[in-house]
Amino acid sequence: MKLSLAAKLVFSYCLIAIFLVASLLLVSNYFFQKQFEVYLAHKQEMKNQEVVNLIASSYTEGGTPPGGHFFETLGNTLLEQGIVLMVYDTAGTELFCVTKQAHGCCERESGGMEAYMKETFPGYSGEYTEDKIDFFSDKGLALGGVTLGYYGPFYIDEGEHNFISRWSGAFLATGAVFLAAAIGIGFFMASKISAPLQKVTQQAKSIAEGNYGQRIAETTNTAEIDALSASIDHLAESLQTQLALKKRMAGDYSHEFRTPLTALQTNLEAMIDGLWQPTPERLEGLRGEITRLGQMVSEVDRLVEVQSRPVQLNKTSYDVTEQAAGVARAFESEIQKKGLAVLVEGGACFIWADYSRFGQVLVNLVSNAVKYTPPGGRVVIEAKNTAKGTRLTVQDTGAGIDEADRPYIFDHLYRADTSRTRETGGSGIGLSVAREIVQAHGGSIAVQGAAGGGSCFVVLLPGEEES
Ligand code: ADP
Repeated sequence: MKLSLAAKLVFSYCLIAIFLVASLLLVSNYFFQKQFEVYLAHKQEMKNQEVVNLIASSYTEGGTPPGGHFFETLGNTLLEQGIVLMVYDTAGTELFCVTKQAHGCCERESGGMEAYMKETFPGYSGEYTEDKIDFFSDKGLALGGVTLGYYGPFYIDEGEHNFISRWSGAFLATGAVFLAAAIGIGFFMASKISAPLQKVTQQAKSIAEGNYGQRIAETTNTAEIDALSASIDHLAESLQTQLALKKRMAGDYSHEFRTPLTALQTNLEAMIDGLWQPTPERLEGLRGEITRLGQMVSEVDRLVEVQSRPVQLNKTSYDVTEQAAGVARAFESEIQKKGLAVLVEGGACFIWADYSRFGQVLVNLVSNAVKYTPPGGRVVIEAKNTAKGTRLTVQDTGAGIDEADRPYIFDHLYRADTSRTRETGGSGIGLSVAREIVQAHGGSIAVQGAAGGGSCFVVLLPGEEES
């Protein structure tokens, strides 16, 4: 059964309150009872002494006992208080016994006392006890003896019983107040916690329905809930960015393919209608467009391939500086045409990678550097082994990439400067393929601004042990 947060909190607060009150009640009851028993036993002793003193003072100086009426009144009064009185003379002869006077009232009284005590003190283990006390005149003359029978070790009267009841009642009332407070605090805390949580849930639902524009924004005084709200807001923001990117990508793809296709169609129609002569130059131009379209399709294919399943890597250890020099040589004619200086610096640098896949990364980085660096510029490729792995940089003196574009440069079809890249024939796919491959190697790729305004692409690859 699923319980709401409020129910759980209220339940746990109540449990704590019950536990606290019950343990407090048990402990204090135990000590109270102990102390109370001591007090009552002492009280009984005092009372006995009082009775004996009263009887002794009723004797004449010569040692003559008072009249029978005195003992009868005293005996009955004491019997009502739970004490059975017997008086003897110095020879031990019984002068008075309340049981004989009370005609069975004594047994009734003592039986009632026992039941009453057992009801008041459930653990009461008292029994009928008799205290025999001799008494003397002021001058030390022996006057006789008294036997006081009662339920011992103590007996409580109605006043004391009322005190105990009130005391227990006060404890129960405290318990009830504690419980009510626990329920109140539980509901208060639950509303404090669950209200913002409900907002977060609402926001998550709203995101699931595709509404990425809303933000929770409100803060609470609970750090965890604030962190959760911030994460949900962050998620909404990333999804919003992704959605915008997807829309832009869809537009870019259709634009990218439609433009050359329209050009091809209008040119071919003009030739078919006889408006244009199909000269070798014109046909060559059309073939160029078709080649570019074919290249774009194969780049999209490559991207789909690396993104749709894990890149299979066949890793070996080889010198990446040598590989970079080979890649640079492949662009020899273009480099010469633009009069660029392409330098591969640093000595042999061994990496643990898939030669052919990592070659694609180098081709993309070097071809971009060559493509986006104006004539007379300079491209430097350098690989270095560091404590954390290998650091490969491809730096150029081209136009560079705006800081605002840098976070998106590795997204497919993203081009920093659309007009410039259209001229250079870029499709915005190369860097996304490069990032997929680098990440499959456990590495990372980023772009920084280079000194002199160009760009510096940095690839970090883990060493053989870490990868
Ligand atoms: P493209 O085929 O357009 O070059 P990439 O994915 O390789 O596709 O690059 C994405 C975009 O990044 C490019 O269109 C360009 O705007 C920018 N870019 C990449 N490399 C460089 C560079 N070395 N200098 C300036 N801009 C670059």
